[in-house]
Amino acid sequence: MRINLKQLRLRSGQKKTMQEKLEGSPEWLKEMQTVLTDSLSVELQVEFTGKQWVVRGTLQASLQLTCSRCLKEFPYRLEGNFERIVVSTTDMKMRKPLEDDDVYLFAEEGWADFGQAIEETLVLNIPMVPLCREDCSGLCAVCGKNLNEETCHCRNDVIDPRLEKLKNLL
Ligand SMILES: [Zn+2]
Ligand SMILES: [Zn+2]
Repeated sequence: MRINLKQLRLRSGQKKTMQEKLEGSPEWLKEMQTVLTDSLSVELQVEFTGKQWVVRGTLQASLQLTCSRCLKEFPYRLEGNFERIVVSTTDMKMRKPLEDDDVYLFAEEGWADFGQAIEETLVLNIPMVPLCREDCSGLCAVCGKNLNEETCHCRNDVIDPRLEKLKNLL
């Protein structure tokens, strides 16, 4: 997502908010076993400080995740934020190395690319262990039934090996 910040012609201290909808689900999301089910909405609030631009981004996405306990797919609403300070490359050369590189973006002729910031924000906000609900009961280890939907009696039949010895004594 490339935007020309210079063309916004903001005066020092001025802000502008932009909204974009990005269509399609990026390929790399597949590696995370997920897919975007709707357009990704990105809101950027750009503020010009007179020297650089401070850009605050808000993402909203609908994803399809797979529950790590019951293996069912479920819809997930993702929200994430990022902040980048955009400096023009010509300014950069005159400056000493910046402390926190992650926060800075460089703009060539005013063009800044927020693609990576968006990607990182998505990745950071996808749950590591997705759960369809907090108290998901998961699958029965014996019969494989989804215990959110059905009950089974397998657990009662499985005998703890320590107890089995006891049973033989009886
Ligand atoms: Zn589940
Ligand atoms: Zn069972």
